[in-house]
Amino acid sequence: MIIYGTTSLYGIIGKPVEHTISPLIHNTISERMGIDSVYVPFRTDGNLSDTTRGLYSLGVRGINVTVPYKTSIMEHLSAVEPLAAAIGAVNTLKYTDEGYRGYNTDILGLGRELDSEGISVKDREVIILGAGGAARAAAFMCLERKPGSMVIANRTLEKAELIRKDLERYACSEGYEGEAVNIKAVTTDSLTGPGSSGLIVFQCTNVGLSPNDGDCVINDRDFYGRVAEGIDLIYKPAQTMFMKYVEEAGGRAYNGLKMLIYQAVCSYEIWNDVRVPDDVVDEIEIKLSER
Ligand code: NAP
Repeated sequence: MIIYGTTSLYGIIGKPVEHTISPLIHNTISERMGIDSVYVPFRTDGNLSDTTRGLYSLGVRGINVTVPYKTSIMEHLSAVEPLAAAIGAVNTLKYTDEGYRGYNTDILGLGRELDSEGISVKDREVIILGAGGAARAAAFMCLERKPGSMVIANRTLEKAELIRKDLERYACSEGYEGEAVNIKAVTTDSLTGPGSSGLIVFQCTNVGLSPNDGDCVINDRDFYGRVAEGIDLIYKPAQTMFMKYVEEAGGRAYNGLKMLIYQAVCSYEIWNDVRVPDDVVDEIEIKLSER
């Protein structure tokens, strides 16, 4: 990669950022598309006011935001997209004349993964396992796609309740165009036992994340007989215990690698006003799965 006087600068802020694979994704896209830009990590120690003012005054065109700043960054932006505001998390900043504008491409990335796999949420019974940041993104993405019903299941019921309330508030807001959706918050334990089949389940907890490959948030094998599609947001290991259980019971299972790639692709497209070709996405997926 050659840096010119004209090269545009992009990057990611977070703490830690040393593990990030975003530079690899973004710089590969720029190289393949012949776009004169470079993407670098910035370890950021918490003063977000100074950070955003510094990056803006240097003309950094776009920033990704990772843990632990996805919510606290919002007060430093000139505007936030309505869906990102409803979720309360932003992971993409775009340079505008007024300041940085915030977006949430975790939601867009997961939606794009579903599209690429031909999975539809519309009128389906959806279960979200977990109630952290990833679960929140999955739940709002599903609500936008008008499911038949949604259950948020978490070890800590209060956190699931919080997401349910935010979803219902969003569903009553002007920005939402769908019909009322039946949303329930429950504890994960209560999901076992008989129930309807054809479920689409999003595994959004940390359980099963490497090196704890043998763990799974639900171990009752009968539950998996009800699952048609299981999407684990974890991508390391490539096949989690949750995915194994879904497949052994006859369902289709997916990991979170495509979501990760697509959230970067969606940021790239917002910043550069381009469409990243599918063959570039496929090349990145192969590169990352070989790591
Ligand atoms: P988070 O905000 O810390 O939430 C963690 C969730 O996991 C909570 O619901 C927590 O339940 C639950 N949990 C943790 N340990 C548990 C245990 N032993 N038993 C039952 N539940 C447990 O984390 P996050 O940001 O949402 O991330 C969650 C996962 O999604 C991570 O593995 C991350 O790698 C993955 N992720 C993937 C992508 C992608 O692009 N593919 C993007 C974001 C996140 P409590 O509320 O009860 O503590």
